[in-house]
Amino acid sequence: MSASSRADGRLPNQLRPIRFQNNIAPHAAGSTLIEWGNTRVICAVTVDEAVPRWMKDQKVSGGWISAEYSMLPYSTLDRKARDISKLKLDGRSQEIQRLIGRSLRAVIDLERLGPRTLWIDCDVLQADGGTRTASITGAYVALGLAFRKLEAEGKITASPLSAGVAAVSVGVFEQRPLLDLNYLEDRDAAVDMNLVMNSHGQFIELQAAGEEATFSDTELANLLTLGRAGIQQLLVMQQAAIGL
Ligand code: UDP
Repeated sequence: MSASSRADGRLPNQLRPIRFQNNIAPHAAGSTLIEWGNTRVICAVTVDEAVPRWMKDQKVSGGWISAEYSMLPYSTLDRKARDISKLKLDGRSQEIQRLIGRSLRAVIDLERLGPRTLWIDCDVLQADGGTRTASITGAYVALGLAFRKLEAEGKITASPLSAGVAAVSVGVFEQRPLLDLNYLEDRDAAVDMNLVMNSHGQFIELQAAGEEATFSDTELANLLTLGRAGIQQLLVMQQAAIGL
């Protein structure tokens, strides 16, 4: 292995190959299967022409967006039991679905959405690291497709999207900053970070942790630079996938 390449042959600043297969779930208002290396997530948006009760009670105008995330039992090397069979949502899934919801709400004008709820469902078909970043990145494409459908049906007059949003992981693995960790890199990374950014170059959320390690200002700055460059590439791929 050369000094610059990784176990899968990528350069430190290289994303895994990414593909979008749109309309994978034809009954959804918008859907895509995002294939990101060996991580594959189905992202689908459905529309409910109603808002949550708390919005009515508190007289909050506009619409709402809610996200759900789940790993299918066969998405991991060892079968992962469905949450329903345990009668509770696992903490990790709950954390990830809240992150997906916050990330997408950050780029949506809920007033322009009108009094309806969008459900964003992210179901992991195959997990190999970065399922939350793939979910956010794919959900944006599914939303773009759903808004186009709502516009065509005359339900909204303009897209409620105020910016793009994409997410990527970065980390320090074998003392090197790397973009877009796969599972093996993620498992052994000394520092692991997820970045969510909008198309104006602003951060929406950062999740960074030293795994039994610490990191310096300089290492953090290097990771942010790597991540920002990855996000810029993802935003271009998303626009191409939506067909804008
Ligand atoms: N993983 C797994 N089973 C689990 C949780 C995670 O196999 O119950 C694997 C999976 O490949 C996942 C990776 O560990 O993508 C990293 O998990 P993490 O919690 O960091 O989230 P992700 O990187 O998927 O957003």
